[in-house]
Amino acid sequence: MVCYQVEELNRHQVINLNRMSLADPFPEDILDEVREYPGNDKCCDCPSIDTDWASVSHGTLICLECAGKHRSLGVHVSFVRSITMDTWSRQQVSTINCQYDSN
Ligand SMILES: [Zn+2]
Repeated sequence: MVCYQVEELNRHQVINLNRMSLADPFPEDILDEVREYPGNDKCCDCPSIDTDWASVSHGTLICLECAGKHRSLGVHVSFVRSITMDTWSRQQVSTINCQYDSN
């Protein structure tokens, strides 16, 4: 995934991120922006467009099938979370949307 410099921080999203506790769903507005990044219109590892999973350690969106393959490699290789079913910490969200500070 490519990180982009932002000229102007989106205040709403920063506030939204700051409100997150240690275990919240992935913020929808931040996910919308992440999906706009070049290459994030499909799975990082295959042509699937169903990217409801992510490798937190790699900062990439992946599909269910590839999430299973990542999981089989072990969390030391790829730490996988579901975008829709798992909870996310602020720091984990910032690995997927690296323009946001996790502090
Ligand atoms: Zn895939």
